[in-house]
Amino acid sequence: MNNPTNDPTNSEANDSGAANVKTASTLRAISLDEIAHLVKDCTDCPLSAGRTNAVPGEGPADARLLFIGEGPGQQEDRQGRPFVGATGKFLEELLASIGLTREQVFIANMIKCRPPQNRDPSPDEMSSCSKYLDRQIELLNPELIVTLGRFSLGRFFPGESITRARGKVREKEGRFIYPIMHPAAALHRQENRSAIMQDFKNIPQVLEKLAQDRSGATQSETSIAETHEFDQAAEDSGQMPETPTAGVIPAEQLDMFSMPAPATEPEPRPTPVAEPVAPTTQQLSLF
Ligand code: SF4
Repeated sequence: MNNPTNDPTNSEANDSGAANVKTASTLRAISLDEIAHLVKDCTDCPLSAGRTNAVPGEGPADARLLFIGEGPGQQEDRQGRPFVGATGKFLEELLASIGLTREQVFIANMIKCRPPQNRDPSPDEMSSCSKYLDRQIELLNPELIVTLGRFSLGRFFPGESITRARGKVREKEGRFIYPIMHPAAALHRQENRSAIMQDFKNIPQVLEKLAQDRSGATQSETSIAETHEFDQAAEDSGQMPETPTAGVIPAEQLDMFSMPAPATEPEPRPTPVAEPVAPTTQQLSLF
């Protein structure tokens, strides 16, 4: 791992927050660096046989944002780092659009070793590997978890469609989850690219509202819907929903953050094509 932000010397900086988490972990590693070492030596599932490098994840121990993808691809397997190559480049562009660099956030995956031919990881493989991500979440205790794609969404909200869940902040297990489509989905579909960019641009606002809530707002956590019934058809077909949610703050998010609800329901409209913009002073001040 050649990223200095994965420096183990500060990996216990946020450890005190682990006492507040509700999710039990079967792994008692005391630092992110220790997890990284365990992952690199892990042979707990068959994926260890085919990997070039395990990819534990990387980022500062005091990161406010945790991004969770699916698993390593070919480039990630070669380099031992998450989100490199074309998808990683797009992720870096997205972070830059909100005034961040990848060194300021923690980036991890659901599974730490590359499945052959980039196939979906099996349930047994996911089960074997989940202890590492669980413990990373406990140690990081991030203010916001951004799930990238349907696999990481499924960790918190099994069975839900990413095309319906994206762009909505919800609470699960005492944590705030903000689902976004996987950046790889943008490489060949312009409408996906626009949706992802718009969802990213809402992240500073989400963090700001969470901070306001912690500092004395009277909003109840129970105002956040924990479960939703969604039609799987749109995701299965690979199509965007007819009524895109990008750029529209959903009702439960408005409730959560004490924001005035729009007078009327927004009309269905095409997803706007948004271009990256320079971060505002307000955005920068969030970090
Ligand atoms: S995928 Fe996870 S459980 Fe399987 S060998 Fe790699 S680190 Fe271990």
